[in-house]
Amino acid sequence: MQPPCSINSLYIDFDAFFANVEKQLEPDIRSRPVGVTALGSEHSALITRCYMAKRAGIIRGMRVSEARKACPDIAIRVARPDVYVDIHNKIITEVSRHVPVKKVWSIDELECELIGRERVRAYEIGLDIQQGLRRNIGAYVTPSIGLAPNQFLAKVAAELEKPNGFVMLRAEDLPGPLLGLKLSDLPGISTGMEKRLSAAGVASVEDFWNISAKHARAIWGNVEGERMWAQLHGHKIERPQTTRRMFGHSRVLSGEFKNPKRAVDCLRLLTVKAANRLRRENYTAAAMSVSLRDQNKQRWTGETQFSPCRDDHSLLKHMHVLYDRGLFEMRPRQLAGVYVMLHKIALPTERGRDLFEEQETRNWDKLTDVMDSFNRKEKKALIHLGPRYKIPGGYAGAKIAFGRVPDAEDFF
Ligand SMILES: [Mg+2]
Repeated sequence: MQPPCSINSLYIDFDAFFANVEKQLEPDIRSRPVGVTALGSEHSALITRCYMAKRAGIIRGMRVSEARKACPDIAIRVARPDVYVDIHNKIITEVSRHVPVKKVWSIDELECELIGRERVRAYEIGLDIQQGLRRNIGAYVTPSIGLAPNQFLAKVAAELEKPNGFVMLRAEDLPGPLLGLKLSDLPGISTGMEKRLSAAGVASVEDFWNISAKHARAIWGNVEGERMWAQLHGHKIERPQTTRRMFGHSRVLSGEFKNPKRAVDCLRLLTVKAANRLRRENYTAAAMSVSLRDQNKQRWTGETQFSPCRDDHSLLKHMHVLYDRGLFEMRPRQLAGVYVMLHKIALPTERGRDLFEEQETRNWDKLTDVMDSFNRKEKKALIHLGPRYKIPGGYAGAKIAFGRVPDAEDFF
């Protein structure tokens, strides 16, 4: 547990996502209340509705026939999961241009962890994301953005001023902005838990704020209560088992880098960037995928698994093997884009037994640490393995993390 400190987390929750995507794509219904249903039947229930419909008294779960009675002007659309996934992926790409996406919580919720200087620029990053989404996804697909010392509070912050919210909760402002909430408004507090808290004399967020961490633990009967209490107080809880960042980068190629002989230089740099980020967070990787896209939009993706490692040399070696295989199988004349992604991310404590089994890997690992500490001191990648070129899109500007693409079942 870390003490309450700076803004570590940025959480985005899109407002009435499906309904707003429909409004974005169909200008004729923008001025009307919109409801989205899973099936095209008058008896089926609304899975979401826009805020205009909400103001007209339309609630989620209402039948289409009831909704039409309550609000004759309502436009009902049948959900289009493939379209929503497509927009979701574009959103991830856009957000990743500003800060890496740490976790995709659902089709319309995602979390970014802020590290280093990102914490100082948190507010600015949030505004950049808001503007970027408006420009590149559309003004109707509005996000509510929360910034806070941890994911728990950032999610709460994103909820506070929906729709189109933008709320920064600083540790020193707490608990003020939280006091208007019900206990069940807090993530992870179910109505059952709310009853249990109430029976223990904790009837409000203020009561919960004022009890001790130990007391919270006792009410829950396990460490989860203490965690919840700590997060409410702005502590950052490390949950290494479930909070994994994605370590991957992609780049659209231009000019000479479209030549497969040069595209690999770009991929090299992306691999080194991903490896560096992996090490900064003290993780190892045990699998990698490389994806190549050619000028005809054909895509080749290959994956390889290996003993957990974290050094540039090993990861570059795996990348080159995959890349050569890709070229052989795809035989592209030109490449339009490349991406590399590290998988099977683990903490050193979770490392497999065969980690650093080979002396060579151990040596590269040590050398990498020396290089990192030197480069950190110099604030520049002065020491690196092999050539390092200026690549299209610059080094830091266009990071793209690839989340798990949700299945249709995830939506309903
Ligand atoms: Mg939402």
